Amino acid sequence: MPELPEVETIRLGLLGRVCNKRIERVEIRCHRIILRPQPREMAAALGGQMIRDIQRRGKFLLFQLDDYRLLVHLGMSGQLTYWDQTQRDDQRFFTTVTGLQQARQHAVDKHTHVSLYFDDGNAMHYRDIRQFGKWRLYRTEAFDEAREFLQLGLEPLDKGYTLSRFMESFRGRKLRIKSLLLNQNFVAGVGNIYADEALFEAGIHPERFVHSLSIEEKQRLFRAIPKVLRRGLKHGGTSFQNYFNADGEAGTNQETLRVYGREGGKCHRCRTPIVRIVVSQRGTHFCQRCQPAKRK
Ligand SMILES: [Zn+2]
Repeated sequence: MPELPEVETIRLGLLGRVCNKRIERVEIRCHRIILRPQPREMAAALGGQMIRDIQRRGKFLLFQLDDYRLLVHLGMSGQLTYWDQTQRDDQRFFTTVTGLQQARQHAVDKHTHVSLYFDDGNAMHYRDIRQFGKWRLYRTEAFDEAREFLQLGLEPLDKGYTLSRFMESFRGRKLRIKSLLLNQNFVAGVGNIYADEALFEAGIHPERFVHSLSIEEKQRLFRAIPKVLRRGLKHGGTSFQNYFNADGEAGTNQETLRVYGREGGKCHRCRTPIVRIVVSQRGTHFCQRCQPAKRK
């Protein structure tokens, strides 16, 4: 699933391409991902609108249009790529997300559910194999109805992410720390990969209950979360299956992961094999030596 570094990488890739472009026409091919309004209504509303800015909060992308805000969540496998009509076909073939093509960019295929065509002939395509993505359109003045978005927790790469706010966010929580990290109302943008990486960085066992954590451990976690997210961002995101940036290229952060997806591999710090367990139905990777079950 695209997490904060992946969504931010996509945002940065799209910013210079789609901002200040006018949407001429919208094709919606899969109705399941359009949550509001009705697909036909959304397509009609988007026509003629200019994209003024793209922001990100947690794992959400927020497109600021003339009269609307378009909120896009990529779900498990959403991909947003830019199509530039001036990029001509090449003599060679390239393997792209949409198959073998003579152009590096991605043509529409059966998984391309939404296409925004701009008045300069270029396009932005949304492709989503598992169809868990969510598109919602609000009139700007009705954005206070975007409850899921407005309830998001701390934004870990923003100035507002302070130790005191982080400590406050633990209040009343009775979960295991891994489960709390996946809760978007705690810290927004952290998913399964970066939760495991942050817990390793902080030396905390993923099954520890939140109330058993010491102040020092919480402080370590406070620093670990932005650290692993920034590392992910620096490497253009983590690509295991479906994640690609706005140019349809994979990230390289999977090569720098310390624990996630490394079951049986040696811990970079102590050489103990990394283990995989299941915590709240999510595969969880950690080092038993660096992340002891009980506080030392
Ligand atoms: Zn270790």
